[in-house]
Amino acid sequence: MSELLGNHVGGRWVPAETGLTRPDVNPADTRDVLGEFAESGGVDVEAAVDAARAARADWHGLGPIRRAEFLREAGRLISARAAEFAETITREQGKLLSEARGEVRRALEVLDFTAGESRRLGGVTAPAEDPRTWAFTFRRPIGVVGLITPWNFPLAIPMWKVAPALLSGCTAVLKPSPLTPLTAALLVRAFADAGLPPGVLNLVQGDRPVGEALVAHQAVAGISFTGSVPVGTAIQRAGAHRLLKTQLELGGKNAVVVLDDADLEQATDAIVRGAFGQAGQRCSATSRVVADVRVVDELVDRLVERVAALRVGPGTDPGSDVCPVVNDDRMRACLDAVHRAEDSGAVVACGGAAATDGLPPGHYVRPTVLRDVPWDAEIAQEEIFGPVLSVIDSDGFDDALRIANSVRYGMSGAVFTRDPARIFEALDRFEAGMLHVNRPGVGAYAHLPHVGAKQSQHGPPECSPQVWDFYTEWRSACIAY
Ligand code: NAD
Repeated sequence: MSELLGNHVGGRWVPAETGLTRPDVNPADTRDVLGEFAESGGVDVEAAVDAARAARADWHGLGPIRRAEFLREAGRLISARAAEFAETITREQGKLLSEARGEVRRALEVLDFTAGESRRLGGVTAPAEDPRTWAFTFRRPIGVVGLITPWNFPLAIPMWKVAPALLSGCTAVLKPSPLTPLTAALLVRAFADAGLPPGVLNLVQGDRPVGEALVAHQAVAGISFTGSVPVGTAIQRAGAHRLLKTQLELGGKNAVVVLDDADLEQATDAIVRGAFGQAGQRCSATSRVVADVRVVDELVDRLVERVAALRVGPGTDPGSDVCPVVNDDRMRACLDAVHRAEDSGAVVACGGAAATDGLPPGHYVRPTVLRDVPWDAEIAQEEIFGPVLSVIDSDGFDDALRIANSVRYGMSGAVFTRDPARIFEALDRFEAGMLHVNRPGVGAYAHLPHVGAKQSQHGPPECSPQVWDFYTEWRSACIAY
Protein backbone atom coordinates (compact mmCIF):
# COMPACT_ATOMS: atom_id res chain seq x y z
CA MET A 1 0.00 0.00 0.00
CA SER A 2 2.71 2.50 0.98
CA GLU A 3 4.14 2.76 -2.55
CA LEU A 4 0.66 3.63 -3.82
CA LEU A 5 0.81 6.85 -1.79
CA GLY A 6 3.24 8.30 -4.31
CA ASN A 7 3.34 8.99 -8.04
CA HIS A 8 3.97 6.48 -10.82
CA VAL A 9 6.60 7.80 -13.22
CA GLY A 10 8.46 5.83 -15.87
CA GLY A 11 7.24 2.53 -14.42
CA ARG A 12 8.30 3.27 -10.82
CA TRP A 13 6.39 4.37 -7.73
CA VAL A 14 8.09 7.50 -6.39
CA PRO A 15 7.28 10.10 -3.72
CA ALA A 16 6.50 13.64 -4.86
CA GLU A 17 9.55 15.83 -5.35
CA THR A 18 7.73 18.50 -3.33
CA GLY A 19 7.88 16.27 -0.23
CA LEU A 20 4.28 17.32 0.48
CA THR A 21 1.33 15.05 1.25
CA ARG A 22 -2.43 15.37 1.82
CA PRO A 23 -4.77 13.09 3.81
CA ASP A 24 -7.38 11.01 1.96
CA VAL A 25 -10.47 11.08 4.23
CA ASN A 26 -13.57 8.84 4.22
CA PRO A 27 -16.64 11.09 3.65
CA ALA A 28 -18.84 8.69 5.63
CA ASP A 29 -16.59 8.81 8.71
CA THR A 30 -13.99 11.54 8.89
CA ARG A 31 -12.08 9.65 11.59
CA ASP A 32 -11.08 7.15 8.90
CA VAL A 33 -8.02 8.37 6.94
CA LEU A 34 -7.03 6.10 4.05
CA GLY A 35 -3.50 7.49 3.83
CA GLU A 36 -1.30 10.53 3.21
CA PHE A 37 -0.98 10.86 -0.56
CA ALA A 38 1.54 12.82 -2.63
CA GLU A 39 0.77 16.50 -3.12
CA SER A 40 2.89 17.02 -6.22
CA GLY A 41 4.03 20.09 -8.11
CA GLY A 42 5.39 21.19 -11.48
CA VAL A 43 8.68 19.34 -11.08
CA ASP A 44 6.80 16.03 -10.77
CA VAL A 45 4.87 16.83 -13.95
CA GLU A 46 8.15 17.51 -15.75
CA ALA A 47 9.47 14.01 -14.87
CA ALA A 48 6.19 12.32 -15.84
CA VAL A 49 5.98 14.09 -19.20
CA ASP A 50 9.62 13.19 -19.92
CA ALA A 51 8.80 9.53 -19.21
CA ALA A 52 5.72 9.67 -21.45
CA ARG A 53 7.75 11.24 -24.28
CA ALA A 54 10.46 8.58 -23.99
CA ALA A 55 7.87 5.79 -24.23
CA ARG A 56 6.04 7.21 -27.25
CA ALA A 57 7.83 5.76 -30.25
CA ASP A 58 7.88 2.14 -29.06
CA TRP A 59 4.26 2.27 -27.90
CA HIS A 60 3.14 3.74 -31.21
CA GLY A 61 5.16 1.11 -33.05
CA LEU A 62 3.14 -1.74 -31.51
CA GLY A 63 -0.01 -0.82 -33.42
CA PRO A 64 -3.55 -0.84 -32.01
CA ILE A 65 -4.21 -4.58 -32.13
CA ARG A 66 -1.20 -5.43 -29.96
CA ARG A 67 -1.83 -2.45 -27.69
CA ALA A 68 -5.35 -3.79 -27.08
CA GLU A 69 -3.84 -6.88 -25.44
CA PHE A 70 -2.57 -4.72 -22.57
CA LEU A 71 -6.08 -3.29 -22.12
CA ARG A 72 -7.59 -6.78 -22.05
CA GLU A 73 -5.06 -7.99 -19.47
CA ALA A 74 -5.68 -4.92 -17.30
CA GLY A 75 -9.41 -5.68 -17.59
CA ARG A 76 -8.86 -9.24 -16.39
CA LEU A 77 -6.92 -7.96 -13.37
CA ILE A 78 -9.51 -5.30 -12.52
CA SER A 79 -12.24 -7.93 -12.80
CA ALA A 80 -10.35 -10.19 -10.40
CA ARG A 81 -9.86 -7.23 -8.03
CA ALA A 82 -13.41 -5.87 -8.43
CA ALA A 83 -14.24 -6.15 -4.72
CA GLU A 84 -11.11 -4.19 -3.71
CA PHE A 85 -11.94 -1.48 -6.27
CA ALA A 86 -15.57 -1.18 -5.13
CA GLU A 87 -14.65 -1.05 -1.43
CA THR A 88 -11.99 1.58 -2.09
CA ILE A 89 -14.37 3.73 -4.16
CA THR A 90 -16.95 3.64 -1.37
CA ARG A 91 -14.38 4.36 1.32
CA GLU A 92 -12.74 7.35 -0.34
CA GLN A 93 -15.58 8.80 -2.45
CA GLY A 94 -18.53 7.82 -0.27
CA LYS A 95 -21.02 6.30 -2.75
CA LEU A 96 -23.08 3.21 -1.85
CA LEU A 97 -21.27 -0.08 -2.30
CA SER A 98 -23.90 -1.09 -4.87
CA GLU A 99 -23.16 2.12 -6.81
CA ALA A 100 -19.41 1.48 -6.55
CA ARG A 101 -19.87 -2.05 -7.93
CA GLY A 102 -21.85 -0.52 -10.81
CA GLU A 103 -18.99 1.88 -11.46
CA VAL A 104 -16.48 -0.98 -11.66
CA ARG A 105 -18.76 -2.67 -14.22
CA ARG A 106 -18.99 0.56 -16.22
CA ALA A 107 -15.22 0.93 -16.26
CA LEU A 108 -14.81 -2.64 -17.51
CA GLU A 109 -17.43 -2.10 -20.23
CA VAL A 110 -15.52 0.90 -21.52
CA LEU A 111 -12.30 -1.08 -21.50
CA ASP A 112 -13.98 -3.93 -23.37
CA PHE A 113 -15.50 -1.60 -25.97
CA THR A 114 -12.21 0.26 -26.45
CA ALA A 115 -10.13 -2.90 -26.89
CA GLY A 116 -12.64 -4.12 -29.50
CA GLU A 117 -12.27 -0.88 -31.44
CA SER A 118 -8.61 -1.73 -32.06
CA ARG A 119 -9.57 -3.63 -35.21
CA ARG A 120 -11.56 -0.71 -36.59
CA LEU A 121 -9.15 2.17 -36.03
CA GLY A 122 -8.53 2.80 -39.71
CA GLY A 123 -9.29 5.39 -42.35
CA VAL A 124 -10.83 5.31 -45.83
CA THR A 125 -9.59 4.92 -49.36
CA ALA A 126 -10.71 7.67 -51.73
CA PRO A 127 -10.77 8.19 -55.51
CA ALA A 128 -7.60 9.86 -56.83
CA GLU A 129 -7.68 12.71 -59.37
CA ASP A 130 -4.45 11.54 -61.00
CA PRO A 131 -3.85 8.28 -62.91
CA ARG A 132 -1.93 5.41 -61.24
CA THR A 133 -2.47 6.92 -57.79
CA TRP A 134 -3.88 5.61 -54.52
CA ALA A 135 -5.46 8.15 -52.13
CA PHE A 136 -6.40 7.31 -48.57
CA THR A 137 -6.64 8.58 -44.99
CA PHE A 138 -5.33 7.20 -41.72
CA ARG A 139 -5.13 8.27 -38.08
CA ARG A 140 -2.08 9.09 -35.97
CA PRO A 141 -1.97 9.49 -32.14
CA ILE A 142 -1.61 13.13 -31.11
CA GLY A 143 1.30 12.40 -28.70
CA VAL A 144 1.54 12.86 -24.94
CA VAL A 145 -1.82 13.59 -23.34
CA GLY A 146 -2.72 14.96 -19.91
CA LEU A 147 -5.79 13.37 -18.30
CA ILE A 148 -7.37 15.44 -15.51
CA THR A 149 -10.27 13.87 -13.63
CA PRO A 150 -12.82 14.66 -10.88
CA TRP A 151 -13.75 12.65 -7.79
CA ASN A 152 -17.32 11.58 -8.51
CA PHE A 153 -16.45 8.55 -10.69
CA PRO A 154 -12.88 7.91 -9.50
CA LEU A 155 -12.47 4.72 -11.56
CA ALA A 156 -14.85 5.06 -14.52
CA ILE A 157 -13.84 8.57 -15.63
CA PRO A 158 -10.08 7.89 -15.53
CA MET A 159 -10.83 4.69 -17.48
CA TRP A 160 -12.85 6.64 -20.08
CA LYS A 161 -9.63 8.55 -20.76
CA VAL A 162 -6.83 6.04 -20.11
CA ALA A 163 -8.28 3.27 -22.29
CA PRO A 164 -8.71 5.28 -25.52
CA ALA A 165 -5.52 7.26 -24.92
CA LEU A 166 -3.45 4.07 -24.76
CA LEU A 167 -5.29 2.22 -27.51
CA SER A 168 -4.81 5.12 -29.91
CA GLY A 169 -1.04 5.11 -29.31
CA CYS A 170 -0.79 8.18 -27.10
CA THR A 171 1.21 8.03 -23.89
CA ALA A 172 -0.36 9.66 -20.87
CA VAL A 173 -0.02 11.46 -17.57
CA LEU A 174 -3.07 10.95 -15.35
CA LYS A 175 -3.84 13.57 -12.70
CA PRO A 176 -6.81 12.38 -10.65
CA SER A 177 -8.77 14.40 -8.10
CA PRO A 178 -6.89 14.86 -4.82
CA LEU A 179 -10.06 13.58 -3.11
CA THR A 180 -9.79 10.10 -4.69
CA PRO A 181 -6.09 9.27 -5.12
CA LEU A 182 -6.20 5.61 -4.04
CA THR A 183 -8.69 4.43 -6.69
CA ALA A 184 -6.50 6.05 -9.35
CA ALA A 185 -3.39 4.39 -7.92
CA LEU A 186 -5.13 0.98 -8.03
CA LEU A 187 -6.08 1.62 -11.66
CA VAL A 188 -2.51 2.50 -12.64
CA ARG A 189 -1.18 -0.50 -10.70
CA ALA A 190 -3.51 -2.80 -12.66
CA PHE A 191 -2.06 -1.52 -15.95
CA ALA A 192 1.48 -1.87 -14.59
CA ASP A 193 0.74 -5.43 -13.47
CA ALA A 194 -0.65 -6.11 -16.95
CA GLY A 195 2.87 -5.50 -18.27
CA LEU A 196 2.36 -2.02 -19.73
CA PRO A 197 5.79 -0.70 -20.78
CA PRO A 198 7.27 1.92 -18.40
CA GLY A 199 6.30 5.51 -19.16
CA VAL A 200 3.18 4.71 -21.22
CA LEU A 201 0.85 5.57 -18.32
CA ASN A 202 2.13 7.87 -15.58
CA LEU A 203 0.34 9.09 -12.49
CA VAL A 204 0.90 12.42 -10.75
CA GLN A 205 -1.18 13.00 -7.62
CA GLY A 206 -2.09 16.50 -6.51
CA ASP A 207 -4.39 19.42 -7.20
CA ARG A 208 -4.44 22.58 -9.25
CA PRO A 209 -0.64 23.14 -9.54
CA VAL A 210 -0.28 19.71 -11.17
CA GLY A 211 -3.18 20.37 -13.56
CA GLU A 212 -1.83 23.80 -14.46
CA ALA A 213 1.67 22.43 -15.10
CA LEU A 214 0.26 19.75 -17.42
CA VAL A 215 -1.75 22.32 -19.36
CA ALA A 216 1.29 24.61 -19.66
CA HIS A 217 3.75 21.91 -20.73
CA GLN A 218 4.79 22.38 -24.37
CA ALA A 219 5.23 18.61 -24.88
CA VAL A 220 1.62 17.87 -23.88
CA ALA A 221 -0.35 17.72 -27.12
CA GLY A 222 -3.83 17.42 -25.63
CA ILE A 223 -5.73 17.71 -22.37
CA SER A 224 -8.77 15.56 -21.66
CA PHE A 225 -10.50 17.14 -18.68
CA THR A 226 -13.64 16.27 -16.73
CA GLY A 227 -14.77 18.71 -14.06
CA SER A 228 -16.42 22.06 -13.49
CA VAL A 229 -17.11 24.78 -16.05
CA PRO A 230 -14.82 27.36 -14.35
CA VAL A 231 -11.81 25.01 -14.36
CA GLY A 232 -12.57 23.83 -17.91
CA THR A 233 -12.74 27.44 -19.05
CA ALA A 234 -9.43 28.20 -17.31
CA ILE A 235 -7.79 25.25 -19.11
CA GLN A 236 -9.14 26.39 -22.47
CA ARG A 237 -7.82 29.90 -21.86
CA ALA A 238 -4.41 28.72 -20.64
CA GLY A 239 -3.90 26.50 -23.69
CA ALA A 240 -5.35 28.83 -26.32
CA HIS A 241 -2.09 30.63 -27.17
CA ARG A 242 -0.55 27.36 -28.40
CA LEU A 243 -3.81 25.94 -29.83
CA LEU A 244 -3.79 23.14 -27.25
CA LYS A 245 -6.21 20.38 -28.22
CA THR A 246 -8.84 19.95 -25.49
CA GLN A 247 -11.67 17.62 -24.62
CA LEU A 248 -13.71 19.24 -21.84
CA GLU A 249 -16.51 17.32 -20.12
CA LEU A 250 -18.14 19.79 -17.78
CA GLY A 251 -21.10 20.40 -15.47
CA GLY A 252 -24.85 20.09 -15.88
CA LYS A 253 -28.18 21.46 -14.63
CA ASN A 254 -30.32 18.69 -15.98
CA ALA A 255 -34.08 18.88 -16.34
CA VAL A 256 -36.77 16.23 -16.33
CA VAL A 257 -39.85 17.59 -18.09
CA VAL A 258 -43.13 16.11 -16.86
CA LEU A 259 -46.01 16.90 -19.21
CA ASP A 260 -49.68 16.76 -18.29
CA ASP A 261 -50.22 13.30 -19.84
CA ALA A 262 -47.21 11.68 -18.10
CA ASP A 263 -47.33 8.44 -16.15
CA LEU A 264 -46.64 10.04 -12.76
CA GLU A 265 -45.60 6.84 -11.03
CA GLN A 266 -43.01 6.16 -13.71
CA ALA A 267 -41.84 9.78 -13.59
CA THR A 268 -41.56 9.79 -9.79
CA ASP A 269 -39.45 6.67 -9.78
CA ALA A 270 -37.13 8.02 -12.48
CA ILE A 271 -36.75 11.40 -10.79
CA VAL A 272 -35.89 9.89 -7.40
CA ARG A 273 -33.25 7.67 -8.97
CA GLY A 274 -31.83 10.44 -11.14
CA ALA A 275 -31.74 13.08 -8.40
CA PHE A 276 -30.58 11.14 -5.35
CA GLY A 277 -28.46 8.31 -6.74
CA GLN A 278 -24.87 9.03 -5.68
CA ALA A 279 -26.35 11.87 -3.62
CA GLY A 280 -26.85 13.89 -6.81
CA GLN A 281 -23.10 14.00 -7.50
CA ARG A 282 -23.27 13.11 -11.19
CA CYS A 283 -22.86 15.46 -14.14
CA SER A 284 -26.09 13.98 -15.52
CA ALA A 285 -27.97 14.06 -12.18
CA THR A 286 -31.56 15.27 -12.29
CA SER A 287 -31.44 18.69 -10.71
CA ARG A 288 -34.64 20.29 -12.02
CA VAL A 289 -38.14 18.94 -12.54
CA VAL A 290 -40.16 21.08 -14.93
CA ALA A 291 -43.71 19.95 -14.21
CA ASP A 292 -46.94 21.01 -15.87
CA VAL A 293 -49.20 23.01 -13.53
CA ARG A 294 -51.98 20.45 -14.12
CA VAL A 295 -49.95 17.65 -12.50
CA VAL A 296 -47.38 19.40 -10.32
CA ASP A 297 -49.22 19.04 -6.99
CA GLU A 298 -49.75 15.32 -7.39
CA LEU A 299 -46.16 14.86 -8.57
CA VAL A 300 -44.73 16.77 -5.58
CA ASP A 301 -46.88 14.71 -3.18
CA ARG A 302 -45.56 11.50 -4.71
CA LEU A 303 -41.96 12.76 -4.67
CA VAL A 304 -42.11 13.88 -1.05
CA GLU A 305 -43.58 10.55 0.06
CA ARG A 306 -40.72 8.68 -1.62
CA VAL A 307 -37.89 11.05 -0.75
CA ALA A 308 -38.77 11.52 2.92
CA ALA A 309 -38.52 7.74 3.34
CA LEU A 310 -34.97 7.54 1.91
CA ARG A 311 -32.35 6.67 4.52
CA VAL A 312 -29.12 8.64 4.44
CA GLY A 313 -26.11 6.69 5.66
CA PRO A 314 -22.66 5.25 4.98
CA GLY A 315 -22.18 3.53 1.66
CA THR A 316 -21.09 0.34 3.41
CA ASP A 317 -24.45 0.04 5.24
CA PRO A 318 -26.86 -2.07 3.13
CA GLY A 319 -29.73 -0.12 4.75
CA SER A 320 -28.55 3.21 3.26
CA ASP A 321 -30.42 4.64 0.26
CA VAL A 322 -28.47 7.88 -0.11
CA CYS A 323 -24.71 8.22 0.47
CA PRO A 324 -22.89 11.18 2.04
CA VAL A 325 -21.55 14.01 -0.12
CA VAL A 326 -17.82 14.03 -0.72
CA ASN A 327 -16.61 16.65 1.77
CA ASP A 328 -17.54 19.51 4.02
CA ASP A 329 -17.27 22.10 1.21
CA ARG A 330 -19.85 20.19 -0.85
CA MET A 331 -22.18 19.89 2.17
CA ARG A 332 -21.93 23.63 2.92
CA ALA A 333 -22.48 24.46 -0.77
CA CYS A 334 -25.69 22.36 -0.83
CA LEU A 335 -27.15 23.78 2.38
CA ASP A 336 -26.23 27.39 1.54
CA ALA A 337 -27.84 27.01 -1.89
CA VAL A 338 -31.05 25.78 -0.24
CA HIS A 339 -31.12 28.80 2.08
CA ARG A 340 -30.64 31.22 -0.81
CA ALA A 341 -33.38 29.38 -2.73
CA GLU A 342 -35.80 29.98 0.13
CA ASP A 343 -34.93 33.69 -0.07
CA SER A 344 -35.91 33.59 -3.75
CA GLY A 345 -39.38 32.18 -2.95
CA ALA A 346 -38.78 28.42 -3.11
CA VAL A 347 -40.40 26.22 -0.47
CA VAL A 348 -38.62 23.26 1.18
CA ALA A 349 -41.02 20.32 0.69
CA CYS A 350 -38.66 17.89 2.44
CA GLY A 351 -35.04 17.74 3.61
CA GLY A 352 -33.07 20.97 3.53
CA ALA A 353 -30.69 20.17 6.40
CA ALA A 354 -27.73 18.05 7.40
CA ALA A 355 -28.41 14.56 8.74
CA THR A 356 -26.63 13.55 11.94
CA ASP A 357 -28.87 11.23 13.98
CA GLY A 358 -27.10 7.95 14.72
CA LEU A 359 -24.54 8.59 11.97
CA PRO A 360 -20.76 8.66 12.22
CA PRO A 361 -19.08 12.06 11.81
CA GLY A 362 -19.41 12.60 8.05
CA HIS A 363 -20.96 14.78 5.35
CA TYR A 364 -24.60 13.73 5.28
CA VAL A 365 -27.25 15.91 3.59
CA ARG A 366 -30.94 15.01 3.78
CA PRO A 367 -32.36 14.48 0.29
CA THR A 368 -34.11 17.73 -0.45
CA VAL A 369 -37.08 18.66 -2.62
CA LEU A 370 -37.78 22.34 -3.23
CA ARG A 371 -41.08 23.38 -4.81
CA ASP A 372 -42.37 26.66 -6.29
CA VAL A 373 -38.84 27.38 -7.50
CA PRO A 374 -38.74 30.38 -9.89
CA TRP A 375 -37.23 29.18 -13.20
CA ASP A 376 -34.62 31.95 -13.13
CA ALA A 377 -33.59 31.60 -9.46
CA GLU A 378 -29.93 30.80 -8.83
CA ILE A 379 -30.84 27.28 -7.63
CA ALA A 380 -32.67 26.65 -10.93
CA GLN A 381 -29.78 27.91 -13.05
CA GLU A 382 -26.55 26.79 -11.37
CA GLU A 383 -25.18 23.30 -10.73
CA ILE A 384 -25.53 22.19 -7.07
CA PHE A 385 -23.87 18.74 -7.34
CA GLY A 386 -25.67 17.34 -4.32
CA PRO A 387 -29.01 15.77 -3.26
CA VAL A 388 -31.12 18.87 -3.92
CA LEU A 389 -33.99 18.83 -6.42
CA SER A 390 -35.87 21.93 -7.66
CA VAL A 391 -39.45 21.60 -8.90
CA ILE A 392 -40.45 24.38 -11.31
CA ASP A 393 -44.01 24.95 -12.58
CA SER A 394 -44.64 25.16 -16.33
CA ASP A 395 -47.75 25.77 -18.42
CA GLY A 396 -47.90 23.58 -21.51
CA PHE A 397 -45.31 22.02 -23.81
CA ASP A 398 -43.67 25.18 -25.17
CA ASP A 399 -43.30 26.72 -21.73
CA ALA A 400 -41.75 23.50 -20.38
CA LEU A 401 -39.15 23.39 -23.18
CA ARG A 402 -38.41 27.10 -22.75
CA ILE A 403 -37.67 26.55 -19.05
CA ALA A 404 -35.70 23.34 -19.62
CA ASN A 405 -33.50 25.19 -22.14
CA SER A 406 -33.09 28.36 -20.06
CA VAL A 407 -29.75 27.31 -18.51
CA ARG A 408 -26.20 27.66 -19.85
CA TYR A 409 -25.63 23.91 -19.43
CA GLY A 410 -26.83 21.07 -21.68
CA MET A 411 -25.63 17.73 -20.35
CA SER A 412 -28.71 15.46 -20.16
CA GLY A 413 -32.48 15.82 -20.30
CA ALA A 414 -35.59 13.67 -20.00
CA VAL A 415 -39.23 14.04 -20.91
CA PHE A 416 -42.27 12.16 -19.62
CA THR A 417 -45.27 12.02 -21.95
CA ARG A 418 -47.42 9.40 -23.69
CA ASP A 419 -47.77 11.46 -26.87
CA PRO A 420 -45.45 10.27 -29.71
CA ALA A 421 -45.54 13.63 -31.47
CA ARG A 422 -44.44 15.44 -28.32
CA ILE A 423 -41.67 12.86 -27.80
CA PHE A 424 -40.14 13.60 -31.18
CA GLU A 425 -40.63 17.34 -30.88
CA ALA A 426 -38.98 17.32 -27.43
CA LEU A 427 -36.00 15.33 -28.77
CA ASP A 428 -35.67 17.91 -31.54
CA ARG A 429 -35.86 20.95 -29.29
CA PHE A 430 -34.14 19.85 -26.07
CA GLU A 431 -30.78 21.67 -25.80
CA ALA A 432 -28.97 18.77 -24.11
CA GLY A 433 -26.57 16.10 -25.33
CA MET A 434 -27.93 12.93 -23.72
CA LEU A 435 -31.70 12.54 -23.97
CA HIS A 436 -34.10 10.11 -22.34
CA VAL A 437 -37.84 9.54 -22.79
CA ASN A 438 -39.97 7.97 -20.06
CA ARG A 439 -36.87 6.79 -18.19
CA PRO A 440 -34.36 8.31 -15.75
CA GLY A 441 -32.27 11.17 -17.12
CA VAL A 442 -29.02 9.48 -16.11
CA GLY A 443 -27.03 6.59 -17.48
CA ALA A 444 -24.92 6.05 -20.56
CA TYR A 445 -23.55 3.25 -22.66
CA ALA A 446 -19.88 2.71 -23.52
CA HIS A 447 -20.69 2.72 -27.24
CA LEU A 448 -22.76 5.93 -27.20
CA PRO A 449 -21.05 9.32 -27.00
CA HIS A 450 -20.97 10.92 -23.55
CA VAL A 451 -21.89 14.26 -24.99
CA GLY A 452 -23.15 17.61 -23.76
CA ALA A 453 -24.50 20.75 -25.43
CA LYS A 454 -23.76 24.40 -24.65
CA GLN A 455 -21.32 24.87 -21.74
CA SER A 456 -21.51 21.22 -20.64
CA GLN A 457 -18.95 20.12 -23.16
CA HIS A 458 -16.29 21.26 -25.58
CA GLY A 459 -14.34 19.19 -28.11
CA PRO A 460 -14.93 15.58 -29.21
CA PRO A 461 -17.04 13.56 -26.74
CA GLU A 462 -15.86 10.61 -24.67
CA CYS A 463 -16.89 6.96 -25.14
CA SER A 464 -18.18 5.74 -28.55
CA PRO A 465 -16.07 5.88 -31.73
CA GLN A 466 -16.26 9.71 -31.58
CA VAL A 467 -13.54 9.59 -28.90
CA TRP A 468 -10.86 8.90 -31.54
CA ASP A 469 -11.31 12.42 -32.84
CA PHE A 470 -9.64 13.63 -29.67
CA TYR A 471 -6.79 11.14 -29.26
CA THR A 472 -5.88 10.94 -32.95
CA GLU A 473 -5.46 13.31 -35.87
CA TRP A 474 -6.09 12.57 -39.51
CA ARG A 475 -3.50 12.20 -42.24
CA SER A 476 -4.29 12.07 -45.95
CA ALA A 477 -1.85 10.41 -48.33
CA CYS A 478 -1.48 9.93 -52.09
CA ILE A 479 0.84 7.29 -53.60
CA ALA A 480 1.79 7.32 -57.29
CA TYR A 481 2.82 3.99 -58.73
P1 NAD B 1 -13.10 20.56 -10.50
O1 NAD B 1 -13.30 21.31 -11.77
O2 NAD B 1 -12.99 21.34 -9.24
O3 NAD B 1 -11.74 19.69 -10.57
C1 NAD B 1 -11.55 18.72 -11.58
C2 NAD B 1 -10.06 18.41 -11.70
O4 NAD B 1 -9.37 19.57 -12.15
C3 NAD B 1 -9.40 17.99 -10.40
O5 NAD B 1 -8.51 16.94 -10.67
C4 NAD B 1 -8.65 19.26 -9.98
O6 NAD B 1 -7.53 18.98 -9.16
C5 NAD B 1 -8.23 19.82 -11.32
N1 NAD B 1 -7.96 21.27 -11.39
C6 NAD B 1 -8.41 22.23 -10.54
N2 NAD B 1 -8.01 23.45 -10.97
C7 NAD B 1 -7.29 23.25 -12.12
C8 NAD B 1 -6.63 24.12 -13.04
N3 NAD B 1 -6.64 25.45 -12.89
N4 NAD B 1 -6.02 23.57 -14.11
C9 NAD B 1 -6.03 22.23 -14.32
N5 NAD B 1 -6.64 21.36 -13.47
C10 NAD B 1 -7.26 21.86 -12.38
O7 NAD B 1 -14.28 19.48 -10.43
P2 NAD B 1 -14.61 18.42 -9.28
O8 NAD B 1 -15.14 19.15 -8.08
O9 NAD B 1 -13.49 17.48 -9.10
O10 NAD B 1 -15.81 17.60 -9.98
C11 NAD B 1 -17.12 18.05 -10.04
C12 NAD B 1 -17.42 18.67 -11.39
O11 NAD B 1 -17.15 17.72 -12.42
C13 NAD B 1 -18.88 19.03 -11.56
O12 NAD B 1 -18.99 20.29 -12.18
C14 NAD B 1 -19.42 17.94 -12.49
O13 NAD B 1 -20.56 18.29 -13.23
C15 NAD B 1 -18.24 17.69 -13.35
N6 NAD B 1 -18.32 16.38 -14.00
C16 NAD B 1 -18.56 16.32 -15.34
C17 NAD B 1 -18.68 15.08 -15.99
C18 NAD B 1 -18.89 14.98 -17.47
O14 NAD B 1 -18.68 13.91 -18.04
N7 NAD B 1 -19.28 16.04 -18.14
C19 NAD B 1 -18.57 13.91 -15.24
C20 NAD B 1 -18.34 14.01 -13.88
C21 NAD B 1 -18.21 15.25 -13.26
